[in-house]
Amino acid sequence: NAYLGAIDAANSVLNAYITVTPEMALEMAKASDARRASGQVGALEGIPLGIKDLFATKGVHTQACSHILDGFKPEYESTVTQNLWDDGAVMLGKLNMDEFAMGSSNETSHYGPVVNPWKAEGSNTQLVPGGSSGGSAAAVAAHLCAGATATDTGGSIRQPAAFTGTVGIKPTYGRCSRWGTVAFASSLDQAGPIARDVRDAAIMLKSMASVDRKDTTSVDLPIPDYEKALGQSVKGMKIGIPKEYRVEGMPEDIEALWQKGIAYLKDAGAEIVDISLPHTKYALPAYYIVAPAEASSNLARYDGVRYGLRVDGKDISDMYEKTRAAGFGTEVKRRIMIGTYVLSAGYYDAYYLQAQKVRTLIKRDFELCFHAGVDAILTPATPSSAFGIADEALAADPVAMYLNDIFTVTVNMAGLPGIAVPAGLDKKGLPLGLQLIGKPFDEETLFRTAHVIE
Ligand code: GLN
Repeated sequence: NAYLGAIDAANSVLNAYITVTPEMALEMAKASDARRASGQVGALEGIPLGIKDLFATKGVHTQACSHILDGFKPEYESTVTQNLWDDGAVMLGKLNMDEFAMGSSNETSHYGPVVNPWKAEGSNTQLVPGGSSGGSAAAVAAHLCAGATATDTGGSIRQPAAFTGTVGIKPTYGRCSRWGTVAFASSLDQAGPIARDVRDAAIMLKSMASVDRKDTTSVDLPIPDYEKALGQSVKGMKIGIPKEYRVEGMPEDIEALWQKGIAYLKDAGAEIVDISLPHTKYALPAYYIVAPAEASSNLARYDGVRYGLRVDGKDISDMYEKTRAAGFGTEVKRRIMIGTYVLSAGYYDAYYLQAQKVRTLIKRDFELCFHAGVDAILTPATPSSAFGIADEALAADPVAMYLNDIFTVTVNMAGLPGIAVPAGLDKKGLPLGLQLIGKPFDEETLFRTAHVIE
């Protein structure tokens, strides 16, 4: 009830939720009370969560914040959300996001932008919460839920977490089942939590993760009790600092934050080593070939027949065309066009195949460092703090918006886990985050190290 009241009071301004499910929430809470009374207490018993609109929730609107999925109510529940309910969690509603998770500011949503609860000191300008999981990050930061699910294809958990002073972890590819999560780029998409602190994120991830025969890319490995990793010392741990992340024009505040993070870990007994990830500069261009290519294929299913919106036409092709023209937003159309172009017969080798080769090189860079004894890598999470809604320069230049992902996409390309942890404020009083990158399936080290920084 307290959370529902908070949503009622703040959502008209923040626009973090696009669907609130009060009756369902109270019913789930009642069932949770009954379980508690009979001594059955799940790991998330009675904890009220917000769910990104990308996760299928049975009988509840699931629209990926796209017009083309208008009115779609799945007949099934995603594996990740089912895992949370099985552990006793309660659903408050569905959270705003960039359309089909394409964006870095939550401004491509069909339901309008999300407002970041943070403002720069002495300013009334409304800021973006980052994207694509902008609703998740804003809702957690503003206490409109105790934690939220999110997804990360190129940074969509970590960048919004950094922009809102929350903790977000993208686990290793395969840690969480993708079944029932609306697909954007299937070889990069991973679910993860956004939470108020590292402990909450650790508890949530343990519940969300599972091997699932409905997603053959989910991995059958033990899921450790991540909470146990907290409080363990980082003494003797080797933390890599990649020189390629010192990008041109990086704001002083970000550089200072990075140095502060290095100093913290050094004080805590970690050994700091300089490393090189030489293919970093190709990650962003390669990502913006691979992700749209997969998206163009995944989004072919929205044909006006199977899901959501249909705009009638004179024949079936005309209906397809009209439905897709009306149903997809500008950014989604741009991705579909880039994707079909790079996959087309004449350009496949030059773009898509080349990007896949670059992806292997990026992965190899990381493998070499870990092989040489590095336990985790520390970088800034984003190249800036939160920017203004409807920023003119960014609206005019999609590539400038894509640059937001410069520190995060390498992790998805390599399939590695990455966590964003709040590490201070910039001169404007806005939160900044640091990112820790780990070895495959070594989320424990990330939680343990992030806990020292937070
Ligand atoms: N901003 C990136 C994109 O638009 C990443 C999105 C994401 O991680 N879902 O592709």
